[in-house]
Amino acid sequence: MSEAAVHVGSGKVRELFQLDSERLLLVASDRISTFDVVLPTEIPDKGRVLTGLSGFWFARTRELVPNHLLALRPDARSTECRRLEMLPLECVARGYLAGSGWKDYRATGAVCGHELPAGLRESERLPEPIFTPSTKALEGHDENIDRAQAEELVGAERFAEVERVSLELYRFASEHAAKRGILIADTKFEFGLDPDGRLVLADEAFTPDSSRFWPADEYEPGRPQPSFDKQFVHDHCETLGWDKNYPAAHEPADRVLRDQGRPAMSGLPRPRVGVLVFPGSNDDRDAALALESLGAEPVLVWHAERDLPGVSAVVLPGGFSYGDYLRCGAIARFAPVMRAVTRFAEDGGLVLGICNGFQVLCEARLLPGALRPNTSLSFVCRDVPLAVEQADTLFTTRCEPGQPLSMPVKHGEGCYFADGDLLAELEANGQIVLRYLENPNGSVADVAAVINDSGNVFGLMPHPEHAVDPLLWPTDGALVLGSLVDAARERTLAAA
Ligand code: ATP
Ligand code: MG
Repeated sequence: MSEAAVHVGSGKVRELFQLDSERLLLVASDRISTFDVVLPTEIPDKGRVLTGLSGFWFARTRELVPNHLLALRPDARSTECRRLEMLPLECVARGYLAGSGWKDYRATGAVCGHELPAGLRESERLPEPIFTPSTKALEGHDENIDRAQAEELVGAERFAEVERVSLELYRFASEHAAKRGILIADTKFEFGLDPDGRLVLADEAFTPDSSRFWPADEYEPGRPQPSFDKQFVHDHCETLGWDKNYPAAHEPADRVLRDQGRPAMSGLPRPRVGVLVFPGSNDDRDAALALESLGAEPVLVWHAERDLPGVSAVVLPGGFSYGDYLRCGAIARFAPVMRAVTRFAEDGGLVLGICNGFQVLCEARLLPGALRPNTSLSFVCRDVPLAVEQADTLFTTRCEPGQPLSMPVKHGEGCYFADGDLLAELEANGQIVLRYLENPNGSVADVAAVINDSGNVFGLMPHPEHAVDPLLWPTDGALVLGSLVDAARERTLAAA
């Protein structure tokens, strides 16, 4: 900055400098915020992406409404803008039912006073786009408000104007994006007034921080959508059990963090979790990465070990040569380390078996029942929908009872079997923890996961470790592995 620019404020994402009495310099940092809290990890070049997108839209919408942009600086993240008197209103336009709109609708049948038809599903397209303003909280969370409250803040006439302009902008951009295969589910604007009292679009426009972008070809109402915005960061943070206040104790488990070597989660101790490695394990690395991203310190343990290192939990990951030519897990259960695992489990240690690991636990009689070839006699490999049957086990504390989950399966012998008596006992004891909503393998009673009667050994056919990375989607595996990490951490703290 050549001229004397005076720092006049910091937003969650932008730094504000005054250039002169009429102009501001807005510098978009690489910070990312969610639930109005700035996360500790920056996303390289995010500020440039926001600036570029805003510039793109400001150029295309200035016929609809003037905007604050005067010039873009060569660093691609700084913009010279007109200094405005900002309206104390976040102007949200929605074409689909998502986020806080969906929450409000589910609770009240309306969003910000807009009565909507009954029976709309999550992510459903609204009959007409609606304007749903919220307060612009100086601290804490913005709150959705209705027309009367908004009119009180800016006056009825100005309200009508921002409503009309917001909806026009939304319609314009969503048409443009839809032709290119992207749905803009909703978006937020900030407006200000110039010295003559004219309405001017300010801040940013149609960025992934202010909007929900959904790939049109994967759009399917009735569930959350895959997205090109920061929704996955929200979703990930929802799985962490974080209270959404400062400090943000957890970072998103995204590629950025992985590439940067995953900085330690601030404050929270990392429980050591053993991940067994058999000669045929192939999901051991993914299990370790997933556990690490969820705040554990994974320790790989070779099958020939006779003792476990000091760990608070043990994971038996998936693999392919645990004796599949005999009966899955029938040989692996005799590995020396399994004696140590049995002692650990008998002492109340936390043990999780995934896929082949589940088979090994059944063969070792640490879990009831058995796994047989899929009734189709075909290998299945796809995401499957599941429902949480028991949310109060140590492996499902982060889940809600009845919560639908999606996780991948990939197995040829995942058909869970228990005879009538055993099944009745498992049902009566609440030991069936997850059930398939679409049974991929013929499991009896749609069983996808069971727990032993003392509640410390858990096995499931779906792969939670393949479902924690927001870039790969889905992320529901984090609920199961995160619950395990929470329980392991508690045990570490209790032992200390
Ligand atoms: P979020 O966008 O996540 O709600 P924030 O409100 O803290 O976070 P930032 O985008 O980090 O916002 O900071 C930008 C700040 O600058 C906001 O307070 C915004 O109202 C203000 N602002 C944007 N454009 C102008 C402008 N032309 N004149 C005056 N203030 C502006
Ligand atoms: Mg902002």
